[in-house]
Amino acid sequence: MAQEAPRLSQSLVNPANLLTDLEEFVEDHRPHGPLVADATEPAWNGYLLTVTCGCGVTFERWVTPLDPELDLLRAAVLN
Ligand SMILES: [Zn+2]
Repeated sequence: MAQEAPRLSQSLVNPANLLTDLEEFVEDHRPHGPLVADATEPAWNGYLLTVTCGCGVTFERWVTPLDPELDLLRAAVLN
């Protein structure tokens, strides 16, 4: 039976806040035109997610491997 990794890291970050921030950005800027999401090459400690709006505002957030939900949201923005 496989052992699940301990989830102590959950206490170090708050993915809910990251998601809320990005969702707010998307909601605020989606009316301005297409949002362009991009991400740097994943490194051991994560990657930089950027979402650029047609109005010139860019949302930037460092995404750690502890934030798997953001991968899903990024995929949603890219679609
Ligand atoms: Zn905008």
